Amino acid sequence: MAAGNRHEPTRTACSESQFSLMEFMRDFPDDASCLEHLWRTRYAPDGEHAECPKCKQERVFRRYATAQGRQSWCCTGCGHHLHPTAGTIFHKSSTSLHLWYFAIYMMTSTRCGVSAKMLEREIGVSYKTAWRMLRLIRTELMADDGEPLRGDVEADEASVDGKPRKRQGEHPQIRLGPSRRSEAAKLRERSRATVFAAVERGGRIKATVLPSRHGPHLRKQLIEWVEPESIIITDEWPAYGGLDQHFISHSRINHSAGWYVQGDTHTNTVEGFFGHLKPSIKGTYRRVSHRWLQGYLNEFVWRRNARYSDTSMFVALIERAAT
Ligand SMILES: [Zn+2]
Repeated sequence: MAAGNRHEPTRTACSESQFSLMEFMRDFPDDASCLEHLWRTRYAPDGEHAECPKCKQERVFRRYATAQGRQSWCCTGCGHHLHPTAGTIFHKSSTSLHLWYFAIYMMTSTRCGVSAKMLEREIGVSYKTAWRMLRLIRTELMADDGEPLRGDVEADEASVDGKPRKRQGEHPQIRLGPSRRSEAAKLRERSRATVFAAVERGGRIKATVLPSRHGPHLRKQLIEWVEPESIIITDEWPAYGGLDQHFISHSRINHSAGWYVQGDTHTNTVEGFFGHLKPSIKGTYRRVSHRWLQGYLNEFVWRRNARYSDTSMFVALIERAAT
């Protein structure tokens, strides 16, 4: 191997990475480069010409230094200002755009999630700020795209340990005396959330938190997610009964009889997702509150769906941030 330029490290061809930290530092070295990226992606591909909403035509825009340090470009025809951050998750945020971009980079470079504590340490913001940034990235940029699933679709539900909200007057510590056993069991049950997921074989996945694992909830969600011309594959859980009325066919694998794969009938793909999700949540976030669980699901679903794309996850996510 020929010696490379040590001052300009490049990604080796065999690396799995599509966008390395070195490339991030080269392309987005400061706040101005992130603002410029947003400006070009949203309004002016060449950095100069943009459609002026006031003049109703393409105009040349310039960036003038203002006393307030405005992050905007000004129309040379009418003086109208365009703010590249308006309408994005960065709008009115006092956190530098550079830190936002790096937080997005971190979210796309991990496979097991980023905790607010870790982001707080990495970028030097308060815990509250780090938490808010991650929440916005998860709920705004990583939300489901609404595109239905089709083909062979596996569905399954799982329990994820979480933190239930305390009921008023409830003692935080449950004493495990004989009279309190049933209460402890109830609390344990309440602390678990039902997560439901459906995945196209060889394709995209969707996941959501459901109020229960009973039939009506599961059926309603599947009908909403999956096109009727699809084949549904589930386990033998009785709540999945009656799905053949809504889809071309419904195959079931009888796990309790010791069957896990019968030809094409298996739910290994969706179980693989849970097999990654559950230990990751435990390892990275310990326990997550039911209230925010959907955000964490969005994050894992988004990364899984983006991994097959030719575009790097980081570029895909900053492009979404700029829409
Ligand atoms: Zn104008």
